[in-house]
Amino acid sequence: MKKLSPWERQQKGELDPLRKKLLFIQRMMMWIYSSYQERGHMTIVSRKRGKSVDPQSSRSESEIVPKVTKMTVSGKKQTMGFEVPGVTAEENGDSVHTPHKGPPSEDANIAASGILEPVSKAALLSHTIQALEEQSTTPTPVKKTNKLKQQIDVKAELEKRQGGKQLLNLVVIGHVDAGKSTLMGHLLYLLGNVNKRTMHKYEQESKKAGKASFAYAWVLDETGEERERGVTMDVGMTKFETKTKVITLMDAPGHKDFIPNMITGAAQADVAVLVVDASRGEFEAGFETGGQTREHGLLVRSLGVTQLAVAVNKMDQVNWQQERFQEIVGKLGHFLKQAGFKEGDVAFIPTSGLSGENLITKSQSSELTKWYQGKCLLEQIDSFKPPQRSIEKPFRLCVSDVFKDQGSGFCVTGKIEAGYIQTGDRLLAMPPNETCTAKGIMLHDEPVDWAAAGDHVSLTLVGMDIIKINVGCVFCGPKEPIKACTRFRARILIFNIEIPVTKGFPVLLHYQTVSEPATIRRLISVLHKSTGEVTKKRPKLLTKGQNALVELQTQRPVALELYKDFKELGRFMLRYGGSTIAAGVVTEIKE
Ligand code: GDP
Repeated sequence: MKKLSPWERQQKGELDPLRKKLLFIQRMMMWIYSSYQERGHMTIVSRKRGKSVDPQSSRSESEIVPKVTKMTVSGKKQTMGFEVPGVTAEENGDSVHTPHKGPPSEDANIAASGILEPVSKAALLSHTIQALEEQSTTPTPVKKTNKLKQQIDVKAELEKRQGGKQLLNLVVIGHVDAGKSTLMGHLLYLLGNVNKRTMHKYEQESKKAGKASFAYAWVLDETGEERERGVTMDVGMTKFETKTKVITLMDAPGHKDFIPNMITGAAQADVAVLVVDASRGEFEAGFETGGQTREHGLLVRSLGVTQLAVAVNKMDQVNWQQERFQEIVGKLGHFLKQAGFKEGDVAFIPTSGLSGENLITKSQSSELTKWYQGKCLLEQIDSFKPPQRSIEKPFRLCVSDVFKDQGSGFCVTGKIEAGYIQTGDRLLAMPPNETCTAKGIMLHDEPVDWAAAGDHVSLTLVGMDIIKINVGCVFCGPKEPIKACTRFRARILIFNIEIPVTKGFPVLLHYQTVSEPATIRRLISVLHKSTGEVTKKRPKLLTKGQNALVELQTQRPVALELYKDFKELGRFMLRYGGSTIAAGVVTEIKE
Protein backbone atom coordinates (compact mmCIF):
# COMPACT_ATOMS: atom_id res chain seq x y z
CA MET A 1 0.00 0.00 0.00
CA LYS A 2 1.21 3.52 -0.80
CA LYS A 3 2.77 5.21 2.20
CA LEU A 4 0.81 8.38 2.98
CA SER A 5 2.55 11.67 3.67
CA PRO A 6 1.75 13.38 7.00
CA TRP A 7 -0.31 15.90 5.04
CA GLU A 8 -2.38 13.17 3.41
CA ARG A 9 -2.78 11.43 6.76
CA GLN A 10 -3.93 14.65 8.33
CA GLN A 11 -6.50 15.08 5.61
CA LYS A 12 -7.78 11.60 6.29
CA GLY A 13 -8.02 12.48 9.98
CA GLU A 14 -5.37 9.95 10.99
CA LEU A 15 -3.11 12.34 12.88
CA ASP A 16 -3.37 13.18 16.58
CA PRO A 17 -3.96 16.87 17.49
CA LEU A 18 -0.32 17.51 18.45
CA ARG A 19 1.01 16.24 15.11
CA LYS A 20 -1.68 18.30 13.40
CA LYS A 21 -0.45 21.45 15.15
CA LEU A 22 3.17 20.68 14.29
CA LEU A 23 2.23 20.07 10.69
CA PHE A 24 0.30 23.31 10.58
CA ILE A 25 3.29 25.26 11.94
CA GLN A 26 5.55 23.51 9.43
CA ARG A 27 3.29 24.47 6.53
CA MET A 28 3.05 28.07 7.76
CA MET A 29 6.86 28.28 7.84
CA MET A 30 7.02 26.86 4.32
CA TRP A 31 4.44 29.37 3.17
CA ILE A 32 6.33 32.32 4.74
CA TYR A 33 9.53 31.03 3.19
CA SER A 34 8.00 30.69 -0.27
CA SER A 35 6.34 34.13 -0.02
CA TYR A 36 9.76 35.55 0.80
CA GLN A 37 11.23 33.71 -2.18
CA GLU A 38 8.51 35.07 -4.44
CA ARG A 39 9.83 38.59 -4.15
CA GLY A 40 13.06 37.58 -5.81
CA HIS A 41 11.30 35.15 -8.10
CA MET A 42 10.87 37.39 -11.10
CA THR A 43 14.55 38.10 -11.51
CA ILE A 44 15.42 34.45 -11.11
CA VAL A 45 12.79 33.55 -13.66
CA SER A 46 13.98 36.10 -16.17
CA ARG A 47 17.52 34.88 -16.09
CA LYS A 48 16.53 31.26 -16.37
CA ARG A 49 13.98 31.80 -19.11
CA GLY A 50 11.10 31.01 -16.87
CA LYS A 51 12.64 27.98 -15.20
CA SER A 52 12.32 28.42 -11.49
CA VAL A 53 15.55 27.63 -9.65
CA ASP A 54 13.76 27.22 -6.38
CA PRO A 55 13.00 23.52 -6.05
CA GLN A 56 10.55 24.21 -3.25
CA SER A 57 8.39 26.58 -5.24
CA SER A 58 8.45 24.57 -8.45
CA ARG A 59 7.41 21.45 -6.58
CA SER A 60 4.55 23.18 -4.84
CA GLU A 61 3.42 24.78 -8.12
CA SER A 62 2.95 21.49 -9.82
CA GLU A 63 1.22 20.16 -6.75
CA ILE A 64 -1.27 22.92 -6.33
CA VAL A 65 -2.21 23.65 -9.91
CA PRO A 66 -5.37 21.73 -10.66
CA LYS A 67 -6.44 19.74 -13.64
CA VAL A 68 -8.76 21.88 -15.69
CA THR A 69 -10.60 20.09 -18.38
CA LYS A 70 -13.92 21.76 -17.97
CA MET A 71 -14.92 25.37 -18.15
CA THR A 72 -17.84 25.95 -15.84
CA VAL A 73 -19.95 28.97 -16.40
CA SER A 74 -22.78 28.48 -14.03
CA GLY A 75 -23.96 30.10 -10.84
CA LYS A 76 -22.13 33.18 -9.67
CA LYS A 77 -19.74 32.84 -12.54
CA GLN A 78 -22.04 34.41 -15.06
CA THR A 79 -21.99 37.74 -13.31
CA MET A 80 -19.44 40.33 -12.41
CA GLY A 81 -19.85 41.25 -8.79
CA PHE A 82 -17.14 43.86 -8.81
CA GLU A 83 -16.66 46.76 -6.60
CA VAL A 84 -16.25 50.03 -8.43
CA PRO A 85 -12.51 50.58 -8.66
CA GLY A 86 -11.38 53.53 -6.62
CA VAL A 87 -8.62 54.58 -8.96
CA THR A 88 -8.68 53.90 -12.65
CA ALA A 89 -5.56 52.81 -14.42
CA GLU A 90 -5.33 56.17 -16.09
CA GLU A 91 -5.52 58.10 -12.84
CA ASN A 92 -2.84 55.80 -11.62
CA GLY A 93 -0.56 57.11 -14.31
CA ASP A 94 -0.16 53.59 -15.63
CA SER A 95 -2.00 54.02 -18.87
CA VAL A 96 0.02 52.95 -21.86
CA HIS A 97 -2.34 53.45 -24.71
CA THR A 98 -5.17 55.86 -25.04
CA PRO A 99 -7.67 54.14 -27.25
CA HIS A 100 -10.45 56.68 -26.98
CA LYS A 101 -8.19 59.50 -28.01
CA GLY A 102 -7.94 58.21 -31.57
CA PRO A 103 -8.36 60.45 -34.57
CA PRO A 104 -11.70 62.24 -34.61
CA SER A 105 -12.55 60.58 -37.89
CA GLU A 106 -12.51 57.14 -36.29
CA ASP A 107 -16.24 56.83 -35.82
CA ALA A 108 -16.79 58.25 -39.23
CA ASN A 109 -14.39 55.68 -40.66
CA ILE A 110 -16.26 52.86 -39.03
CA ALA A 111 -19.50 54.40 -40.12
CA ALA A 112 -18.37 54.88 -43.68
CA SER A 113 -17.20 51.32 -43.91
CA GLY A 114 -20.80 50.28 -43.43
CA ILE A 115 -20.00 47.82 -40.69
CA LEU A 116 -23.51 47.31 -39.66
CA GLU A 117 -26.13 46.85 -42.28
CA PRO A 118 -29.75 45.97 -41.98
CA VAL A 119 -31.33 42.59 -41.41
CA SER A 120 -33.62 41.07 -43.97
CA LYS A 121 -36.89 39.61 -42.86
CA ALA A 122 -35.31 36.69 -41.13
CA ALA A 123 -31.68 37.54 -40.81
CA LEU A 124 -28.92 39.96 -41.53
CA LEU A 125 -28.07 41.14 -44.98
CA SER A 126 -24.78 39.89 -46.34
CA HIS A 127 -21.50 41.34 -45.12
CA THR A 128 -23.07 42.93 -42.09
CA ILE A 129 -20.87 41.46 -39.46
CA GLN A 130 -18.30 40.43 -42.02
CA ALA A 131 -17.71 44.07 -42.80
CA LEU A 132 -17.36 44.67 -39.10
CA GLU A 133 -14.00 42.97 -39.28
CA GLU A 134 -12.92 44.37 -42.60
CA GLN A 135 -13.11 48.01 -41.67
CA SER A 136 -9.91 49.97 -41.88
CA THR A 137 -8.69 50.49 -38.36
CA THR A 138 -5.52 52.03 -37.07
CA PRO A 139 -4.72 50.47 -33.76
CA THR A 140 -3.36 52.73 -31.07
CA PRO A 141 0.42 52.19 -30.85
CA VAL A 142 1.60 50.22 -27.87
CA LYS A 143 4.66 50.99 -25.81
CA LYS A 144 6.78 47.94 -24.98
CA THR A 145 8.21 48.24 -21.53
CA ASN A 146 8.54 44.85 -19.93
CA LYS A 147 12.21 43.94 -19.76
CA LEU A 148 11.48 40.48 -18.43
CA LYS A 149 9.38 39.55 -21.40
CA GLN A 150 11.97 40.58 -23.96
CA GLN A 151 14.00 37.64 -22.75
CA ILE A 152 11.93 35.05 -24.54
CA ASP A 153 11.29 34.79 -28.23
CA VAL A 154 7.68 33.69 -27.90
CA LYS A 155 7.20 33.04 -31.58
CA ALA A 156 10.18 30.69 -31.70
CA GLU A 157 9.17 29.06 -28.42
CA LEU A 158 5.64 28.58 -29.73
CA GLU A 159 6.94 26.88 -32.87
CA LYS A 160 9.03 24.58 -30.75
CA ARG A 161 6.21 23.80 -28.36
CA GLN A 162 3.70 22.92 -31.02
CA GLY A 163 6.18 20.83 -32.99
CA GLY A 164 5.29 22.87 -36.04
CA LYS A 165 1.57 22.39 -35.43
CA GLN A 166 -0.77 25.36 -35.29
CA LEU A 167 -3.21 25.97 -32.47
CA LEU A 168 -6.89 26.21 -33.20
CA ASN A 169 -9.83 26.74 -30.83
CA LEU A 170 -12.93 25.07 -32.15
CA VAL A 171 -16.46 25.38 -30.83
CA VAL A 172 -19.23 22.93 -31.67
CA ILE A 173 -22.61 24.58 -31.99
CA GLY A 174 -26.11 23.67 -33.12
CA HIS A 175 -29.66 22.98 -32.08
CA VAL A 176 -30.27 20.74 -29.09
CA ASP A 177 -30.19 17.04 -30.07
CA ALA A 178 -28.57 17.73 -33.44
CA GLY A 179 -25.94 15.24 -32.32
CA LYS A 180 -23.07 17.54 -31.33
CA SER A 181 -21.83 15.53 -28.37
CA THR A 182 -22.24 12.21 -30.15
CA LEU A 183 -20.40 13.47 -33.20
CA MET A 184 -17.45 14.88 -31.31
CA GLY A 185 -17.39 12.05 -28.75
CA HIS A 186 -17.21 9.54 -31.59
CA LEU A 187 -14.54 11.56 -33.37
CA LEU A 188 -12.43 11.60 -30.20
CA TYR A 189 -12.94 7.87 -29.80
CA LEU A 190 -11.90 7.15 -33.39
CA LEU A 191 -8.82 9.32 -32.89
CA GLY A 192 -7.84 7.17 -29.93
CA ASN A 193 -8.41 9.92 -27.37
CA VAL A 194 -10.80 7.75 -25.40
CA ASN A 195 -9.57 4.29 -24.54
CA LYS A 196 -11.61 1.21 -25.32
CA ARG A 197 -12.18 0.41 -21.66
CA THR A 198 -13.63 3.84 -20.89
CA MET A 199 -15.80 3.67 -23.99
CA HIS A 200 -17.01 0.25 -22.93
CA LYS A 201 -17.85 1.68 -19.51
CA TYR A 202 -19.86 4.50 -21.11
CA GLU A 203 -21.69 1.97 -23.27
CA GLN A 204 -22.58 -0.16 -20.26
CA GLU A 205 -23.61 2.79 -18.11
CA SER A 206 -25.68 4.45 -20.80
CA LYS A 207 -27.40 1.13 -21.56
CA LYS A 208 -28.19 0.71 -17.88
CA ALA A 209 -29.63 4.21 -17.76
CA GLY A 210 -31.79 3.36 -20.79
CA LYS A 211 -29.88 5.84 -22.95
CA ALA A 212 -27.68 3.56 -25.03
CA SER A 213 -27.65 5.99 -27.94
CA PHE A 214 -25.92 8.56 -25.77
CA ALA A 215 -22.75 6.52 -25.12
CA TYR A 216 -20.52 8.69 -27.34
CA ALA A 217 -22.11 11.87 -26.04
CA TRP A 218 -21.06 10.81 -22.54
CA VAL A 219 -17.45 11.24 -23.56
CA LEU A 220 -18.15 14.96 -23.48
CA ASP A 221 -21.21 15.37 -21.24
CA GLU A 222 -19.49 14.69 -17.98
CA THR A 223 -21.77 15.84 -15.22
CA GLY A 224 -24.54 13.68 -13.83
CA GLU A 225 -27.15 16.35 -14.46
CA GLU A 226 -26.15 16.65 -18.09
CA ARG A 227 -26.51 12.92 -18.52
CA GLU A 228 -29.80 12.84 -16.72
CA ARG A 229 -31.27 15.62 -18.78
CA GLY A 230 -29.49 14.48 -21.92
CA VAL A 231 -28.33 18.01 -22.68
CA THR A 232 -24.95 19.67 -22.52
CA MET A 233 -24.94 22.58 -20.07
CA ASP A 234 -21.35 23.60 -19.56
CA VAL A 235 -18.73 24.14 -22.16
CA GLY A 236 -16.62 21.00 -22.10
CA MET A 237 -13.04 21.32 -23.28
CA THR A 238 -10.84 18.65 -24.80
CA LYS A 239 -7.71 18.58 -26.89
CA PHE A 240 -7.05 16.55 -30.02
CA GLU A 241 -4.67 16.71 -32.94
CA THR A 242 -5.00 16.67 -36.69
CA LYS A 243 -2.19 16.34 -39.21
CA THR A 244 -1.21 20.00 -38.97
CA LYS A 245 -3.05 21.32 -35.92
CA VAL A 246 -3.57 21.04 -32.20
CA ILE A 247 -7.27 21.59 -31.58
CA THR A 248 -8.91 22.74 -28.37
CA LEU A 249 -12.46 21.53 -28.70
CA MET A 250 -15.33 23.25 -26.97
CA ASP A 251 -18.64 21.46 -27.00
CA ALA A 252 -21.14 24.21 -26.36
CA PRO A 253 -24.63 23.64 -25.06
CA GLY A 254 -27.38 23.84 -27.64
CA HIS A 255 -30.31 24.22 -25.31
CA LYS A 256 -31.91 27.67 -25.35
CA ASP A 257 -31.53 28.09 -21.58
CA PHE A 258 -27.82 27.73 -21.92
CA ILE A 259 -27.13 30.26 -24.65
CA PRO A 260 -25.09 32.47 -22.30
CA ASN A 261 -22.84 29.47 -21.63
CA MET A 262 -22.60 28.91 -25.34
CA ILE A 263 -21.50 32.51 -25.82
CA THR A 264 -18.69 31.94 -23.35
CA GLY A 265 -17.48 29.05 -25.48
CA ALA A 266 -17.96 30.78 -28.78
CA ALA A 267 -16.19 33.90 -27.59
CA GLN A 268 -13.07 31.82 -27.19
CA ALA A 269 -13.28 30.03 -30.52
CA ASP A 270 -11.43 30.65 -33.77
CA VAL A 271 -13.56 28.35 -35.89
CA ALA A 272 -16.82 26.45 -35.46
CA VAL A 273 -18.47 23.19 -36.40
CA LEU A 274 -22.19 23.75 -36.80
CA VAL A 275 -24.09 20.49 -36.43
CA VAL A 276 -27.52 20.17 -38.02
CA ASP A 277 -29.84 17.19 -37.92
CA ALA A 278 -30.61 16.04 -41.47
CA SER A 279 -33.72 14.08 -40.41
CA ARG A 280 -36.96 15.28 -41.95
CA GLY A 281 -38.62 17.83 -39.75
CA GLU A 282 -35.64 18.03 -37.40
CA PHE A 283 -33.48 20.26 -39.58
CA GLU A 284 -36.50 22.47 -40.09
CA ALA A 285 -37.23 22.66 -36.34
CA GLY A 286 -33.69 23.79 -35.63
CA PHE A 287 -33.68 26.24 -38.52
CA GLU A 288 -37.00 27.93 -37.82
CA THR A 289 -37.48 30.87 -35.50
CA GLY A 290 -36.99 29.61 -31.99
CA GLY A 291 -34.47 26.98 -33.15
CA GLN A 292 -30.86 27.46 -32.26
CA THR A 293 -29.29 26.87 -35.67
CA ARG A 294 -29.80 30.44 -36.83
CA GLU A 295 -29.07 32.06 -33.50
CA HIS A 296 -25.87 30.08 -33.00
CA GLY A 297 -24.75 30.91 -36.53
CA LEU A 298 -25.31 34.60 -35.94
CA LEU A 299 -23.73 34.52 -32.52
CA VAL A 300 -20.48 32.89 -33.56
CA ARG A 301 -20.17 35.19 -36.54
CA SER A 302 -20.73 38.23 -34.33
CA LEU A 303 -18.15 36.93 -31.91
CA GLY A 304 -15.55 36.85 -34.65
CA VAL A 305 -15.69 33.32 -36.05
CA THR A 306 -15.30 33.47 -39.83
CA GLN A 307 -14.72 29.83 -40.79
CA LEU A 308 -17.36 27.19 -40.40
CA ALA A 309 -17.74 23.48 -41.06
CA VAL A 310 -21.37 22.41 -41.21
CA ALA A 311 -21.80 18.76 -40.27
CA VAL A 312 -25.03 17.70 -41.94
CA ASN A 313 -25.50 14.97 -39.37
CA LYS A 314 -27.71 11.91 -38.95
CA MET A 315 -27.47 11.33 -42.70
CA ASP A 316 -28.09 7.66 -41.89
CA GLN A 317 -31.64 8.69 -40.97
CA VAL A 318 -32.27 9.89 -44.52
CA ASN A 319 -30.44 7.03 -46.28
CA TRP A 320 -27.57 9.33 -47.26
CA GLN A 321 -29.79 11.01 -49.83
CA GLN A 322 -28.02 13.58 -51.94
CA GLU A 323 -31.25 15.57 -52.45
CA ARG A 324 -31.77 16.02 -48.73
CA PHE A 325 -28.15 17.10 -48.29
CA GLN A 326 -28.47 19.60 -51.15
CA GLU A 327 -31.72 20.95 -49.76
CA ILE A 328 -30.03 21.68 -46.44
CA VAL A 329 -26.93 23.15 -48.11
CA GLY A 330 -29.20 25.45 -50.12
CA LYS A 331 -31.26 26.74 -47.22
CA LEU A 332 -28.48 27.00 -44.67
CA GLY A 333 -25.90 28.28 -47.15
CA HIS A 334 -28.17 31.16 -48.06
CA PHE A 335 -28.71 32.06 -44.43
CA LEU A 336 -25.03 31.82 -43.51
CA LYS A 337 -24.15 34.14 -46.36
CA GLN A 338 -26.64 36.63 -45.01
CA ALA A 339 -25.16 36.25 -41.57
CA GLY A 340 -21.81 37.39 -42.92
CA PHE A 341 -19.92 34.18 -43.69
CA LYS A 342 -18.01 34.12 -46.97
CA GLU A 343 -19.05 31.25 -49.19
CA GLY A 344 -15.50 29.95 -49.44
CA ASP A 345 -15.19 29.80 -45.67
CA VAL A 346 -18.14 27.47 -45.14
CA ALA A 347 -17.89 23.74 -45.90
CA PHE A 348 -20.78 21.27 -45.71
CA ILE A 349 -19.96 17.67 -44.77
CA PRO A 350 -22.43 14.78 -44.66
CA THR A 351 -21.87 12.80 -41.45
CA SER A 352 -23.28 10.28 -39.03
CA GLY A 353 -22.07 10.83 -35.52
CA LEU A 354 -23.66 7.57 -34.46
CA SER A 355 -22.09 5.27 -37.07
CA GLY A 356 -18.91 7.36 -37.33
CA GLU A 357 -19.24 7.70 -41.09
CA ASN A 358 -17.14 10.45 -42.71
CA LEU A 359 -15.68 11.62 -39.40
CA ILE A 360 -11.95 10.92 -39.45
CA THR A 361 -11.63 9.10 -42.77
CA LYS A 362 -13.42 9.56 -46.04
CA SER A 363 -16.49 7.39 -46.21
CA GLN A 364 -16.17 4.11 -48.10
CA SER A 365 -19.90 3.61 -48.25
CA SER A 366 -21.10 3.64 -51.85
CA GLU A 367 -24.33 5.33 -50.76
CA LEU A 368 -22.23 8.37 -50.03
CA THR A 369 -19.24 8.05 -52.36
CA LYS A 370 -21.49 7.95 -55.40
CA TRP A 371 -22.28 11.62 -54.90
CA TYR A 372 -19.81 12.97 -52.34
CA GLN A 373 -16.06 13.05 -52.86
CA GLY A 374 -15.30 15.96 -50.55
CA LYS A 375 -13.45 16.08 -47.26
CA CYS A 376 -14.35 14.18 -44.12
CA LEU A 377 -14.91 16.23 -40.95
CA LEU A 378 -11.35 15.82 -39.63
CA GLU A 379 -9.82 16.83 -42.97
CA GLN A 380 -12.00 19.91 -42.98
CA ILE A 381 -10.94 20.86 -39.45
CA ASP A 382 -7.33 20.34 -40.47
CA SER A 383 -7.73 22.65 -43.45
CA PHE A 384 -9.06 25.64 -41.47
CA LYS A 385 -6.77 28.63 -41.69
CA PRO A 386 -5.23 29.35 -38.28
CA PRO A 387 -5.99 32.83 -36.97
CA GLN A 388 -3.36 35.44 -36.31
CA ARG A 389 -2.25 35.35 -32.69
CA SER A 390 -1.76 38.82 -31.23
CA ILE A 391 1.42 37.88 -29.41
CA GLU A 392 3.03 41.31 -29.74
CA LYS A 393 0.10 43.09 -28.13
CA PRO A 394 -0.18 43.75 -24.38
CA PHE A 395 -1.28 40.78 -22.29
CA ARG A 396 -5.03 40.23 -22.00
CA LEU A 397 -6.87 37.27 -20.48
CA CYS A 398 -10.59 37.29 -19.91
CA VAL A 399 -11.56 35.08 -16.97
CA SER A 400 -13.97 32.25 -17.72
CA ASP A 401 -13.78 30.54 -14.34
CA VAL A 402 -12.48 31.21 -10.84
CA PHE A 403 -11.91 28.56 -8.22
CA LYS A 404 -10.03 27.87 -5.04
CA ASP A 405 -7.50 25.14 -4.93
CA GLN A 406 -5.50 23.52 -2.18
CA GLY A 407 -2.45 25.53 -1.27
CA SER A 408 -1.87 29.23 -1.49
CA GLY A 409 -3.68 31.54 -3.87
CA PHE A 410 -6.47 30.61 -6.22
CA CYS A 411 -6.95 29.74 -9.86
CA VAL A 412 -8.52 31.42 -12.84
CA THR A 413 -9.02 29.96 -16.29
CA GLY A 414 -9.45 31.72 -19.60
CA LYS A 415 -8.09 32.20 -23.06
CA ILE A 416 -5.15 34.53 -23.55
CA GLU A 417 -6.53 37.00 -26.08
CA ALA A 418 -3.30 38.89 -26.61
CA GLY A 419 0.32 38.97 -25.52
CA TYR A 420 1.96 36.35 -23.38
CA ILE A 421 2.71 35.55 -19.78
CA GLN A 422 5.51 33.94 -17.80
CA THR A 423 5.41 32.47 -14.33
CA GLY A 424 6.23 35.16 -11.81
CA ASP A 425 4.69 37.97 -13.88
CA ARG A 426 2.82 40.70 -12.05
CA LEU A 427 -0.72 41.03 -13.33
CA LEU A 428 -3.40 43.65 -12.98
CA ALA A 429 -7.03 42.55 -12.76
CA MET A 430 -9.64 44.96 -14.18
CA PRO A 431 -11.97 45.37 -12.47
CA PRO A 432 -11.16 45.46 -9.48
CA ASN A 433 -7.93 47.28 -10.47
CA GLU A 434 -5.72 45.20 -8.21
CA THR A 435 -2.46 43.41 -8.82
CA CYS A 436 -1.29 39.90 -8.11
CA THR A 437 1.41 37.46 -9.21
CA ALA A 438 1.02 34.54 -11.57
CA LYS A 439 2.60 31.80 -9.54
CA GLY A 440 1.81 28.97 -11.87
CA ILE A 441 0.53 28.44 -15.42
CA MET A 442 -1.21 25.28 -16.58
CA LEU A 443 -1.75 24.54 -20.24
CA HIS A 444 -3.65 21.40 -21.26
CA ASP A 445 -3.22 20.06 -17.70
CA GLU A 446 0.56 20.51 -17.78
CA PRO A 447 2.49 23.11 -15.79
CA VAL A 448 4.35 25.46 -18.13
CA ASP A 449 6.68 28.45 -17.72
CA TRP A 450 4.96 30.65 -20.26
CA ALA A 451 1.84 30.78 -22.42
CA ALA A 452 0.78 33.04 -25.27
CA ALA A 453 -2.21 34.42 -27.16
CA GLY A 454 -4.57 31.67 -28.22
CA ASP A 455 -3.76 29.40 -25.28
CA HIS A 456 -6.45 28.33 -22.84
CA VAL A 457 -4.72 28.44 -19.51
CA SER A 458 -5.30 28.08 -15.84
CA LEU A 459 -3.31 30.53 -13.72
CA THR A 460 -2.51 30.13 -10.05
CA LEU A 461 -2.52 33.60 -8.56
CA VAL A 462 -1.13 34.83 -5.28
CA GLY A 463 -1.29 38.20 -3.55
CA MET A 464 -4.98 38.84 -4.20
CA ASP A 465 -8.22 37.85 -2.56
CA ILE A 466 -10.35 35.42 -4.59
CA ILE A 467 -13.54 37.34 -3.78
CA LYS A 468 -12.28 40.25 -5.86
CA ILE A 469 -12.26 38.18 -9.04
CA ASN A 470 -15.24 37.10 -11.10
CA VAL A 471 -15.91 35.72 -14.51
CA GLY A 472 -15.45 38.47 -17.07
CA CYS A 473 -12.62 40.15 -15.24
CA VAL A 474 -9.68 40.88 -17.55
CA PHE A 475 -6.08 40.28 -16.48
CA CYS A 476 -3.46 42.48 -18.10
CA GLY A 477 0.06 43.79 -17.53
CA PRO A 478 0.10 46.56 -14.88
CA LYS A 479 1.96 48.84 -17.30
CA GLU A 480 -0.43 48.27 -20.17
CA PRO A 481 -3.81 48.15 -18.45
CA ILE A 482 -7.20 47.65 -19.95
CA LYS A 483 -9.78 50.23 -18.94
CA ALA A 484 -12.81 49.47 -16.84
CA CYS A 485 -15.84 51.60 -17.55
CA THR A 486 -19.56 51.77 -17.00
CA ARG A 487 -20.27 53.95 -20.00
CA PHE A 488 -19.20 53.50 -23.61
CA ARG A 489 -20.31 54.27 -27.14
CA ALA A 490 -20.82 51.69 -29.79
CA ARG A 491 -22.08 51.07 -33.28
CA ILE A 492 -24.79 48.50 -33.21
CA LEU A 493 -26.79 46.55 -35.71
CA ILE A 494 -30.32 45.83 -34.59
CA PHE A 495 -31.45 42.28 -35.36
CA ASN A 496 -34.91 41.10 -36.16
CA ILE A 497 -36.75 42.50 -33.13
CA GLU A 498 -40.43 43.06 -32.48
CA ILE A 499 -40.36 45.95 -30.01
CA PRO A 500 -38.35 49.04 -30.92
CA VAL A 501 -35.33 50.02 -28.87
CA THR A 502 -35.83 53.27 -26.97
CA LYS A 503 -33.76 55.34 -24.56
CA GLY A 504 -33.34 53.48 -21.28
CA PHE A 505 -33.94 50.07 -22.92
CA PRO A 506 -32.65 47.33 -20.58
CA VAL A 507 -30.33 44.75 -22.13
CA LEU A 508 -27.85 42.07 -21.18
CA LEU A 509 -24.42 42.93 -22.49
CA HIS A 510 -22.50 39.87 -23.64
CA TYR A 511 -18.89 39.94 -24.64
CA GLN A 512 -16.16 37.44 -24.08
CA THR A 513 -17.18 35.67 -20.91
CA VAL A 514 -19.14 38.62 -19.57
CA SER A 515 -22.87 38.84 -19.15
CA GLU A 516 -23.76 42.13 -17.50
CA PRO A 517 -27.04 44.06 -17.14
CA ALA A 518 -26.93 47.36 -19.00
CA THR A 519 -29.19 50.03 -20.46
CA ILE A 520 -29.11 51.88 -23.73
CA ARG A 521 -28.48 55.29 -22.24
CA ARG A 522 -28.59 57.41 -25.37
CA LEU A 523 -29.63 56.96 -28.96
CA ILE A 524 -27.07 59.17 -30.64
CA SER A 525 -27.76 58.68 -34.33
CA VAL A 526 -29.13 56.39 -36.98
CA LEU A 527 -26.59 55.61 -39.67
CA HIS A 528 -27.11 54.93 -43.33
CA LYS A 529 -27.14 51.24 -44.15
CA SER A 530 -24.40 51.30 -46.72
CA THR A 531 -22.59 54.64 -46.49
CA GLY A 532 -22.62 54.87 -42.72
CA GLU A 533 -23.54 58.56 -42.85
CA VAL A 534 -25.72 59.93 -40.09
CA THR A 535 -29.27 59.89 -41.40
CA LYS A 536 -30.95 61.00 -38.21
CA LYS A 537 -29.67 62.59 -35.05
CA ARG A 538 -31.09 61.75 -31.63
CA PRO A 539 -33.72 59.29 -32.86
CA LYS A 540 -36.59 58.48 -30.53
CA LEU A 541 -36.39 54.78 -31.31
CA LEU A 542 -34.47 52.14 -33.24
CA THR A 543 -36.17 49.42 -35.22
CA LYS A 544 -35.11 46.14 -36.80
CA GLY A 545 -32.35 46.27 -39.33
CA GLN A 546 -31.12 49.68 -38.30
CA ASN A 547 -27.55 50.74 -37.86
CA ALA A 548 -27.02 53.11 -35.00
CA LEU A 549 -24.58 54.84 -32.73
CA VAL A 550 -25.63 54.46 -29.09
CA GLU A 551 -24.29 54.97 -25.61
CA LEU A 552 -24.50 52.08 -23.20
CA GLN A 553 -24.41 52.15 -19.45
CA THR A 554 -23.57 49.06 -17.44
CA GLN A 555 -24.53 48.54 -13.84
CA ARG A 556 -21.02 47.64 -12.79
CA PRO A 557 -17.69 48.38 -14.41
CA VAL A 558 -16.69 46.20 -17.34
CA ALA A 559 -13.25 45.91 -18.91
CA LEU A 560 -13.50 46.74 -22.59
CA GLU A 561 -11.27 47.78 -25.46
CA LEU A 562 -11.95 49.72 -28.59
CA TYR A 563 -12.69 47.44 -31.49
CA LYS A 564 -9.94 49.06 -33.52
CA ASP A 565 -7.36 48.14 -30.88
CA PHE A 566 -8.46 44.66 -29.76
CA LYS A 567 -11.14 43.13 -31.91
CA GLU A 568 -11.74 40.33 -29.44
CA LEU A 569 -12.41 42.66 -26.54
CA GLY A 570 -14.21 45.30 -28.53
CA ARG A 571 -17.23 43.48 -29.89
CA PHE A 572 -20.34 42.38 -28.09
CA MET A 573 -23.90 41.16 -28.33
CA LEU A 574 -27.00 42.59 -26.70
CA ARG A 575 -29.72 40.27 -25.50
CA TYR A 576 -33.20 40.98 -24.25
CA GLY A 577 -35.88 38.59 -23.08
CA GLY A 578 -33.89 35.52 -24.08
CA SER A 579 -33.01 36.57 -27.62
CA THR A 580 -30.14 38.35 -29.21
CA ILE A 581 -31.32 41.77 -30.33
CA ALA A 582 -28.12 43.39 -31.58
CA ALA A 583 -24.42 43.01 -32.29
CA GLY A 584 -22.02 45.87 -31.83
CA VAL A 585 -18.49 47.20 -31.71
CA VAL A 586 -17.04 49.59 -29.12
CA THR A 587 -16.08 52.94 -30.63
CA GLU A 588 -15.46 55.09 -27.57
CA ILE A 589 -14.91 54.36 -23.89
CA LYS A 590 -16.41 57.02 -21.66
CA GLU A 591 -16.00 56.41 -17.94
P1 GDP B 1 -26.60 17.22 -28.80
O1 GDP B 1 -27.69 17.71 -27.90
O2 GDP B 1 -26.54 18.03 -30.04
O3 GDP B 1 -25.25 17.12 -28.13
O4 GDP B 1 -27.04 15.76 -29.26
P2 GDP B 1 -26.56 14.34 -28.73
O5 GDP B 1 -25.18 14.04 -29.19
O6 GDP B 1 -26.82 14.28 -27.27
O7 GDP B 1 -27.52 13.39 -29.55
C1 GDP B 1 -28.92 13.44 -29.43
C2 GDP B 1 -29.51 12.12 -29.91
O8 GDP B 1 -29.29 11.96 -31.31
C3 GDP B 1 -28.90 10.89 -29.25
O9 GDP B 1 -29.90 9.96 -29.01
C4 GDP B 1 -27.94 10.37 -30.28
O10 GDP B 1 -27.69 9.01 -30.20
C5 GDP B 1 -28.65 10.72 -31.55
N1 GDP B 1 -27.70 10.87 -32.67
C6 GDP B 1 -26.60 11.64 -32.69
N2 GDP B 1 -25.98 11.54 -33.88
C7 GDP B 1 -26.69 10.69 -34.63
C8 GDP B 1 -26.55 10.18 -35.98
O11 GDP B 1 -25.63 10.50 -36.71
N3 GDP B 1 -27.51 9.30 -36.40
C9 GDP B 1 -28.54 8.92 -35.61
N4 GDP B 1 -29.41 8.09 -36.14
N5 GDP B 1 -28.71 9.38 -34.36
C10 GDP B 1 -27.80 10.25 -33.86
